[in-house]
Amino acid sequence: MATVYAIANQKGGVGKTTTAVNLAACVAEAGYEALLVDMDAQANATVGLGIPKDSAPSIYDVLSGDATMEEAIRPTGIEHLSLVPASPDLAGASVELPRIEESEGRLRDALADVRERYTFTILDCPPSLGPLTVNALVAADRVIVPVQAEYFALEGLAGLLDTLGLIQRELNPRLTIAGMLLTMHDGRTRLAQDVEREVREHFPTLVFDTVIPRNIRVGEAPSFGRPVIHHDPHCAGSDAYFDLAKEVAARG
Ligand code: ADP
Ligand code: MG
Repeated sequence: MATVYAIANQKGGVGKTTTAVNLAACVAEAGYEALLVDMDAQANATVGLGIPKDSAPSIYDVLSGDATMEEAIRPTGIEHLSLVPASPDLAGASVELPRIEESEGRLRDALADVRERYTFTILDCPPSLGPLTVNALVAADRVIVPVQAEYFALEGLAGLLDTLGLIQRELNPRLTIAGMLLTMHDGRTRLAQDVEREVREHFPTLVFDTVIPRNIRVGEAPSFGRPVIHHDPHCAGSDAYFDLAKEVAARG
């Protein structure tokens, strides 16, 4: 069944883009058709797949009605994985979208024609709860919340859950939480263990069993323009993202 996943957390640097790119690459590697939509003006997911950030048409053109989703979808060079790139002009969409009536549904409507083709559509959200993230959450069936295994990990999660509840009630009753994902976990430190315990105690049913370790290969893969499973298929980061893909598919 075709499912749309938003990768969201209003905090920056928690592993959203890394998770979006690598989850998409893992499900594609398993033979599922996957579409990654880059919703962040920083275009890190686009560049992380080796595609220039000034590519056109981009998701900005789709949201502003100048291109269809079909026109903006491009191959990535990775079998079964397609991308809708972001471009820097997407920053303007945060200002322009609220001026358009019912703009919250733009991404959902644009995806309608293509979504059945992809078992996994993955939306990489920007680090805010602004109009672009709202568009992603309205288009999504499920949301994955990366949580960095660091001090202050829980900060902001209550606000995020409130926003998800509001979107569920007002705009998208289908939306459910697929899970919270602990990222950049350094198992050698007491802090990471404490944070993991605290997050699991707070959200007993929500946290994925899989934990993504802090791993140098994961961090450097984007500079080679490829997912970690293509950069170093046997590193701990690749193992973890494969495990996550299995867990997401099983929970799906
Ligand atoms: P976000 O999209 O939430 O802002 P990113 O996915 O871009 O966060 O991650 C922030 C930074 O941390 C990036 O430089 C990324 O390469 C690095 N990073 C993410 N996950 C890991 C990891 N598991 N191990 C090492 N570095 C990571
Ligand atoms: Mg990002």
